[in-house]
Amino acid sequence: YTNNDYLLSVEHLTVSFDGFKAVNDLTFYVDTGEIRVIIGPNGAGKTTVLDLLCGKTRATEGSVKFKGRELTHMREDQIVHAGVGRKFQNPSIYEDLTVFENLEISYPRGHGVFGSLFFQRGAEVIDRVREVAEMIFLADHLDQKAATLSHGQKQWLEIGMLLIQEPELLMLDEPVAGMSVAERRKTAELLHTITEGRSVIVIEHDMGFVEDIAHKVTVLHQGKILAEGSMEKVKSDPAVIDVYLGH
Ligand code: ADP
Repeated sequence: YTNNDYLLSVEHLTVSFDGFKAVNDLTFYVDTGEIRVIIGPNGAGKTTVLDLLCGKTRATEGSVKFKGRELTHMREDQIVHAGVGRKFQNPSIYEDLTVFENLEISYPRGHGVFGSLFFQRGAEVIDRVREVAEMIFLADHLDQKAATLSHGQKQWLEIGMLLIQEPELLMLDEPVAGMSVAERRKTAELLHTITEGRSVIVIEHDMGFVEDIAHKVTVLHQGKILAEGSMEKVKSDPAVIDVYLGH
């Protein structure tokens, strides 16, 4: 048995900014099909963890293995190609394009100049766009300009633009911020659909939503793991209660 059996193995991950360890000796493992939620007070290091996992920030120490491959020395685009997708808080959809076009341009075109040059929109692409649009509740909005979508629909569209690239690990930063109750419920449904054969790591503040989606919760505090396990377990952990009540 090795830790390569996990989809993602993070071991002793550390990053220092001028001697300050924003993420300090972090070790955790994520299974295939798992929804992992990272919670913790502001400044705990949550965003920095995702930045490290997607290659936006370089680790000072430690390792990140995805399907057994070391990611810490890869460029951001190589990490994407390896199957790791990251959605940032602000949508980067193309407002002037339709839902269909936004999804279509996100479809992987193969690599290098030739991959792009000879890319043709085939039935395969159209089928995949329809399939993803169905998952993100936008199948009836394919011809609508993205600018006219609701805030929640824009968030789903961006998730769709990642899904069409078939990532095996998806990282989402506060996916339900600003959403209505109905949209939150549908987003929870979407995340459960996504995990058929994939994993999701979510940063989230909304505890109701965390309860709805989390298979496992990792509580960060001052760059370290304060607690980890089911929501039930971490919720009743005295150290966690202490941090959240601000003692
Ligand atoms: P969270 O997402 O949990 O609110 P962050 O990961 O954004 O926390 O930040 C963790 C800590 O690291 C904070 O104290 C923040 O100021 C610091 N930090 C994050 N990025 C940098 C950086 N590029 N340079 C210096 N300090 C940083």
